Amino acid sequence: MKRQGWFAAVLIALVFTGAAVAADAAWESLFDGKTLNGWVQKNGQAKYTVEDGTIVGTTVLNTPNSFLCTEKMYQDFVLELEFLVEPGLNSGIQIRSHSYKDYNNYRVHGYQVEIDTSKRAWSGGIYDEGRRGWLFDLKDKPEAQAAFKQDQWNHYRIEALGDRIRTWVNGVPAADLTDDMTATGFIALQVHGSKVADKKIKWRNLRIQDLTRKSERKLLKALIVDGQNNHDWKATTPVLKRLLEETGLFTVEVATSPGPKEPMDSFKPDFAKYDVIVSNYTGADWPKATQGALVEYMNQGGGLVIFHAANNAFPNWKEWNEMIALGGWGGRNERAGPMVRYRDGKVVLDDSPGRGGSHGPQHEFQVTVRDRHHPIMAGLPQKWMHAKDELYSTLRGPAKNMTILATAYADPKQKGTGEHEPALFTVRYGKGRIFHTVLGHAPEQMRSVGFSVTYQRGAEWAATGRVTQVEVPEDMSTADKAHLR
Ligand code: ZN
Repeated sequence: MKRQGWFAAVLIALVFTGAAVAADAAWESLFDGKTLNGWVQKNGQAKYTVEDGTIVGTTVLNTPNSFLCTEKMYQDFVLELEFLVEPGLNSGIQIRSHSYKDYNNYRVHGYQVEIDTSKRAWSGGIYDEGRRGWLFDLKDKPEAQAAFKQDQWNHYRIEALGDRIRTWVNGVPAADLTDDMTATGFIALQVHGSKVADKKIKWRNLRIQDLTRKSERKLLKALIVDGQNNHDWKATTPVLKRLLEETGLFTVEVATSPGPKEPMDSFKPDFAKYDVIVSNYTGADWPKATQGALVEYMNQGGGLVIFHAANNAFPNWKEWNEMIALGGWGGRNERAGPMVRYRDGKVVLDDSPGRGGSHGPQHEFQVTVRDRHHPIMAGLPQKWMHAKDELYSTLRGPAKNMTILATAYADPKQKGTGEHEPALFTVRYGKGRIFHTVLGHAPEQMRSVGFSVTYQRGAEWAATGRVTQVEVPEDMSTADKAHLR
């Protein structure tokens, strides 16, 4: 108990003061002093070299902004470094940044801690490179503006914890930004496009405390609910359980309901004990008290994962349908709500009449990510092939407070609708969070790496609102090939 108390105290310090974490996490060097191993250059052609234990960035004419990027992704961290910059050069440190083909042809974008040698003196401010522009300038911070010293080595401390990013310039507090657009990404050293060649900026002593795992308070508690399903729940529940346990983040319990012909009155899982509920259930209605307990749990900020046929459940339970946003079968039709389509890059609600829920024969299909900044999707390829599975289509429901993370194209050649059908999405309900995956008909389909990764991340997001599983697995499926485990 003592130890736990101490640990909680450190975590509270970590979350609320940030600066008090130094004793808790080891520093890792981001630069070995000799090579650029672990770094990769993107966008412009500025020169990056190693000289005397420093990384030297040199401007080159007629080239856009250049970025030397870490290969690794970071989420929560403290980053410290020193730099020496020639007058007139603009530069900066990217954090939580990305480069995707479908975003302006690989344009590096994300938070930049500014290095600004101009009179304005906003070094240490936060600029959203390639995206929204200034997020936190230093107009009203004269002491921070005065902290940067031209022609000297300057020291930056950058703390990114949850949705808060703070900076210090030579020990003077500069930016303090709260923003939740991007939780994870690479770190990069910018050399700005320049009208003058051979201007230099040097960096040294780059070190990081990776706090991503450390900010986990304790193991998360998950409850899988099963017992009735038109699918083989006895085979899929052990896979759902194992996948969560493999992350090292969860302890998992299972609540199995009475069977289809048995009285349901005794079925009263204590939802409030858990960080996330995973539904692998579709069948008889739960007792009113159990339904009410789930609604209350979600209103109070609970987490829920809807797995494949779980969205067939409870066609007549209003709050349930709001939680899952879309469902299928069970007599659902236009009265259940619209279908949700992704057309020309936009979400469209389609009220046309017809049954809710359908799929053609099982086949392999591509999943296309539609929200690359959502923490569940961060770093995943834009398209990956999913295992031979049912492509759920024409789902209908209230469709409120939904964020579509990924779609799948239901090809008419496979008796599909010709629409981009929602495959992975999130829903906000009360203070709660729902992750909904339509994938995973049976254990064979759940071997698909794209399924596992999104389920594991989605469950963590539903539980906490964050995703600490930032690495993209090496065996992640590609656009052409579904990888199975
Ligand atoms: Zn199925």
